[in-house]
Amino acid sequence: MTTMRAVQVSRPNAPFEIVERSIPAPPPGSVRVKVQACGICHSDSLVKDGHWPGLQYPRVPGHEVAGLIDAVGAGVTGWKLGQRVGLGWHAGHCGACDDCRRGDFFACTVAHQITGIDFDGGYADYLIAPTTALARVPDELSPVEVGPLMCAGITTFNALRNSGARPGDLVAILGLGGLGHLGVQFAAKMGFHTVAIARGPDKQPLAKKLGARHYIDSQAQDPAAELGKLGGAKVVLATVTHGPAMSATIGGLAPNGTLLVIGAAQSLEVSPLLLIMGQRSVKGWYSGTSIDSQDTLAFSAATGVRSMNEVFPLERAAEAYARMLSGKARFRVVLTTGN
Ligand SMILES: [Zn+2]
Ligand SMILES: [Zn+2]
Repeated sequence: MTTMRAVQVSRPNAPFEIVERSIPAPPPGSVRVKVQACGICHSDSLVKDGHWPGLQYPRVPGHEVAGLIDAVGAGVTGWKLGQRVGLGWHAGHCGACDDCRRGDFFACTVAHQITGIDFDGGYADYLIAPTTALARVPDELSPVEVGPLMCAGITTFNALRNSGARPGDLVAILGLGGLGHLGVQFAAKMGFHTVAIARGPDKQPLAKKLGARHYIDSQAQDPAAELGKLGGAKVVLATVTHGPAMSATIGGLAPNGTLLVIGAAQSLEVSPLLLIMGQRSVKGWYSGTSIDSQDTLAFSAATGVRSMNEVFPLERAAEAYARMLSGKARFRVVLTTGN
């Protein structure tokens, strides 16, 4: 076989099209990955809608990739044929700029590479990637399980483990969707006193099943007051994309508590008085690099954290993407190639 299927976007707002392409060979320093599964992330809309400055079309989206190393470029060490790998959002950095030299690879402005943005991603049978993008996959996880952990998983896991909260601290997860249902599981398995905050009473059983000790219905209750009754949250992890829902929790942060934002809301209103009087802070979190992805996979394999997924074959990518956009998927949507 010399050709493969790829689902590409040929220009901003164009429909997804399935095209046949020749299977590419990996250049030096890169590998070819035979894709087994790829999660669909809301950020794929950056490609679909043309909201990423300078993006080159046609482009194949997809940065929640699980697959096998299928060919190895010249000079690649430490990775071998047939090895299982995952790829997430962060795919590469220069390693030499001041930010990289400080270990802030996410902030690299010289050669920051993003899977499915700067090069073709996982909506395809194969992709070519730099080795800086690769995470090792534990045997316990299936390709479909790996996919969503490569973006939704790493983002919530890495935010929580770097949040400053310690086992036993009260940690609230705001939102119980694609990110939030993983966030609740990670928080519980990390030993936090975990609170889930979502809209409506119907999500309470799921929140408890995922490991939350308490559930706050933000439609019927005041999240800040309820968090206060529990002693105040060391961290609120905001996974929603609605600014006012985030603002409504800030008063429920304990002194020195942090609102940790990973949901891309349009804007966020903050009361300076709440920040000053409680020394509270509002902070954002970038997902992480390939070693953070690898840690996410290892932790998930060890503790049983899994994404709840709806699975579609690659050729139904357009339908699967629409399902993701509808907000009705429970909770992540994953494409499989049959490889
Ligand atoms: Zn993503
Ligand atoms: Zn750099």
